[in-house]
Amino acid sequence: MTDPTQEQTRPFRVAIVGAGPAGFYAADRLLRDDREFEVEIFDRLPTPWGLVRAGVAPDHPKIKAVTRVYEKTAARERFRFHGNVEIGSDLSHDELVSCHDAVIYTYGASLDRRLGIPGEDLPGSVPATSFVAWYNGHPDAAHHNFDLTGKRAVVIGNGNVAIDVARMMVLPREELQATDIADHAIEALANSSIEEVVIIGRRGPAQAAYTTPELRELGELTDADVIVSKAEIELDAASKAWLDSEEADRTSRDNVEIVQEYSSRTPSGKPKRVVLKFLASPVEIIGDDKVRAIRLVHNELKGDGSQIRAVAGGSEEVLDCDLVLRSVGYRGSAIEGLPFNESAGTVLNAEGRVLTCDGGRALTGIYTAGWIKRGPSGVIGTNKKCANDTVDKLIDDLDAGLLPESELGADQLDALLAERCPNRVDYSGWEKINAHELSEGETQGRPRVKLVDRDDMVEKSRG
Ligand code: NAP
Repeated sequence: MTDPTQEQTRPFRVAIVGAGPAGFYAADRLLRDDREFEVEIFDRLPTPWGLVRAGVAPDHPKIKAVTRVYEKTAARERFRFHGNVEIGSDLSHDELVSCHDAVIYTYGASLDRRLGIPGEDLPGSVPATSFVAWYNGHPDAAHHNFDLTGKRAVVIGNGNVAIDVARMMVLPREELQATDIADHAIEALANSSIEEVVIIGRRGPAQAAYTTPELRELGELTDADVIVSKAEIELDAASKAWLDSEEADRTSRDNVEIVQEYSSRTPSGKPKRVVLKFLASPVEIIGDDKVRAIRLVHNELKGDGSQIRAVAGGSEEVLDCDLVLRSVGYRGSAIEGLPFNESAGTVLNAEGRVLTCDGGRALTGIYTAGWIKRGPSGVIGTNKKCANDTVDKLIDDLDAGLLPESELGADQLDALLAERCPNRVDYSGWEKINAHELSEGETQGRPRVKLVDRDDMVEKSRG
């Protein structure tokens, strides 16, 4: 390493691992700075945009429009994209560090959290994360098959992902076809036999994690009535006191009002139903060769304010079902050589500076932002502040002379990539994939038709 106190002789080289929102916001902040930065952004997929492409529900095109902002970042000078390159296997953490002056890890949280109950691994019990990846055409999930031949699906969890997957299961074919959903999912969902989706929250509506527009959408579905039992949403004294206090947020108050309005509706006889069920936790998924039912325990709420928690009461209920989607949050995975906080499922860090494994001090030039820094929370925009905060720390360290220039540079990185990643997709390659998908979409009267196979993507990236 060169002496950090020497004057900078070339643009400061930063690698960003993960081309989702946090990665692009970090890149943008760096490339707008007066100091000269060079940004190399890596992704294990041939395509950029992370969860905006592979997570946001296909029927939410306005949310996806945020990629126009990222495209502007990608058009800046001194920006390079390396798709289809996995850090941790194609290139090690140490190799990446040796070719850059700083590295920012923004690779999100791609695993699912588990319930830890019997029957969780029966066929037909699946993480919502893989269902989402499947309908969004993520190449790792495109080959998955979900058995949609039963009449009832259960979704565990009360977050926005739970609402997304429930909604996708009841959209009519015409509405699916108007989106960029993967072709395989249009056929499977439009031909599905599912008539009822039950979303189960372990606490009450005042504690639900979903946001109000998403909850409101459930009440406006073309083909499905929304059903809520009045008895399950009767507010307990602690929740009522909390909602009346200044501590409560507007989302929770609005959510309670909307759910109350749903409970007073008479079903209009639409062919499908979305049932919102509260105060119940799964204790067993029952089945033989596949899921047949789920055993739930009814909960009581204990504690006060924002600390209100669900505690199992005495009574139980068995609900017949054919599919269980476990939607209880995402979890990050570790990269070899990068200190990891196992219990949180995040990279070990203090305010974005990655720490040594014992948490004792910050590692020189290694940073993190987004879900892999703080856990899977917030909406897309939350990652802008998160990424900017991290880049501020990097710039503070640079200004303090703490970041030496790396010995190796772009030439050595390119040599490594040429040797290890013959199928690397650069930004112009992605533009070719994008043009192909948009043109297929135009032909079919859809926003885009996604390629879902890596080899096809690589082929199209070569024009
Ligand atoms: P989430 O918002 O953290 O919700 C997880 C849900 O799972 C909570 O209701 C939680 O209940 C429940 N849960 C956790 N452990 C459980 C258990 N053992 N048994 C039963 N329930 C359990 O996670 P998410 O839905 O995966 O969403 C992740 C993030 O992406 C969120 O920030 C979300 O807003 C965002 N997102 C946004 C959109 C959008 O803007 N349209 C769409 C999708 C996702 P407790 O609260 O009781 O722990």
